Amino acid sequence: MNFKLESTAIQTAVAGLKFRTQAFINGTFADAVSGKTFVTENPATGRPIARIAEGDAADVDCAVKAARAAFESGSWSRRKPAERKQTLLRFAELVEANAGELALLDCLEAGKPIADCVNIDLPDTVACLRWHAEAGDKLYDRVSPTGPENLALILREPVGVVGCVVPWNFPAQMVAWKLGPALAAGNSVVLKPAEQTSLSALCMAGLAAEAGLPAGVFNVVPGFGPTAGQAIGRHPGVDMVAFTGSTEVGRLFLRYAAESNLKRIILECGGKSPQVVLADPPDLDLVAQNVVNSAFWNMGENCSCGSRLIVHQSVKDDLLDRITKLAGTWTVGDPLDPATRVGSMIEKPHLEKVLGYIAAGKADGAKLALGGRQILETAGGYFVEVTIFDEVTNAMKIAREEIFGPVLSVIPFATEAEAVAIANDTNYGLAASLYTRDLNTAHRVARAIRAGTVSVNCYSEGDLTTPFGGFKESGFAGRDKSIWAHEQYTELKTIWMQLA
Ligand code: NAD
Repeated sequence: MNFKLESTAIQTAVAGLKFRTQAFINGTFADAVSGKTFVTENPATGRPIARIAEGDAADVDCAVKAARAAFESGSWSRRKPAERKQTLLRFAELVEANAGELALLDCLEAGKPIADCVNIDLPDTVACLRWHAEAGDKLYDRVSPTGPENLALILREPVGVVGCVVPWNFPAQMVAWKLGPALAAGNSVVLKPAEQTSLSALCMAGLAAEAGLPAGVFNVVPGFGPTAGQAIGRHPGVDMVAFTGSTEVGRLFLRYAAESNLKRIILECGGKSPQVVLADPPDLDLVAQNVVNSAFWNMGENCSCGSRLIVHQSVKDDLLDRITKLAGTWTVGDPLDPATRVGSMIEKPHLEKVLGYIAAGKADGAKLALGGRQILETAGGYFVEVTIFDEVTNAMKIAREEIFGPVLSVIPFATEAEAVAIANDTNYGLAASLYTRDLNTAHRVARAIRAGTVSVNCYSEGDLTTPFGGFKESGFAGRDKSIWAHEQYTELKTIWMQLA
C-alpha cells in the first residue's frame, strides 16, 4: 500500500489522485463517441468527483469490434497459456503496486470504509488475479475412452468476446472476479462498470495495458445500464455475458440473449441470506461477532449479507443483547477515516430505499432494537444507522426483500425443522451460515439449506479455491472464483478422428 492508514496520509493521497475518466477501447483512452459525460459523486459528501465518458451503444460497438479483432488475431487467444500467465502476473503486480490508489478510488466513489478497501478489497483483488493467472497453464484437456479406431479430443477453448457487467459494491474486486478467469482462458473482454463506480476499472485498464495485454483484449466502456449495459447484452458480436448485480437486471440479460444471438449468460445476483443459530451454539460472543460482521460489513451492501438472523428462542435474548452491544460499536462515519466501520449508502435513492424498508419494518410490527435513522446529514452524504429489528416474521417485507443496507431482522424459531423451513422460505439462495456444537446437526442443516455457500460456525464466502454463486434467483448457470469460474469462460470442443 502506498500510504499509511492514517488520516493525514490519506488526505494527502486523496489530494494527489489523478482520475482516468475516458473509455478504454482497443488499447486507447478516448472520449465517448457522443462526446457526452456524466458526473460521478462521492456518496459520503454528495459532492462531484469527476466527469466520466458516457459510453452507449456506439462505444460498445467499437469495443466489441476491437475485442473480436483481437480475439481473431490470436494475439492473446492463441498465445501459450504459460505466456498469458506471465502477462497476467505482471498485471496483478501492477494492481498491487497501485493498490493504495485503487482503494481510495473505491472508497471515494462507493462510500466504503478505507480500512476495508485497503485490508480486504484490494488484497482480494490482487489474489484473485494471481490465482486465475496461475491456474491457466495447469489445466489439461481430455482424451475420450473410444475404441482403437478413433481418437477423440475433448478440448476447452475460449468462448470469444465476453461482456462483463458489474455492480458498485466491490468495484475493483468484481472486475477481478470476472477478468481473472476470462482473460486466463484466452477471451477478449468488454467490461461495463456500474455508473456509480467507474474509476478503479478505468485505472485497471491502464495497468493491464502497461502489463503488456494486447490492444483490444480488455476494453472498458463506462456508462449507464439501459444504454451501455443493454448494448452489451444485445450485441450479436458478444459470445457471453458475465453479470453481477440485482436479480431484476439479471433477468433482463436473459431476455437480451434470447432476443439477440443466444449468447451464454452467467448471472450472480442478489440474496436474503439466513444466519441460523441453533439451540446449542458455540461461544455466543463468537457467534455475535460473526452475525454482526455478516449483517453490517460493507454497510450491508453485500450480496451475501446475512440479513435474516434465525435464532432458537432459548438463546435469542442473550444473543440479541450481545449483537446489539457489539453493533453499537461499529462506527458510522466518513469512509476516509480509518476508524470507520460503516460508510455511506451508495446514493440518495438507495438511502431512501433503505429508509423505506425501515419504515416498513416498523409498520409491519417488528420491534426496533437498534438504530433506524438517517444520520450525519450535515456531511451531505447518505448515512444510515446500523439497524436491528427484533420480533420479525418471515412474512414481513424486511424479511423477504433484499434491502442492501445495514438492517438485520431477528426471527425466532422453536425446532430445527422450523429453522430450515424459514431459512429456505425465500426466492434467493446465495449464502447461509449456521451455528451449532453438534457435528451431525451441522451436516444435516448445511445440506438442508438451499444456498450456494453454507458456512458453519463462522460467516464466510470461502476463498479463491471455492466456487461462489447462488441457487434459485440468486444466480444462473455459473459460479465466480475457483476452477469452475475458469471453466465457465470456455467452450467444450470435441475433435473426433478416424485412425483406421
Ligand atoms: P444493478 O443490477 O442495478 O446493476 C448492476 C449492473 O447492471 C450495473 O453495471 C448497471 O449499470 C447494469 N444495469 C442496470 N440496469 C441495466 C439494464 N437495464 N440493462 C443492462 N444493464 C443494466 O445492481 P447494483 O445495484 O449495481 O448492485 C447491487 C446488486 O448486486 C445486489 O442485488 C447484490 O446482491 C448484487 N451482487 C451480487 C453478487 C454475487 O456475487 N452474487 C456480488 C455483488 C453484488
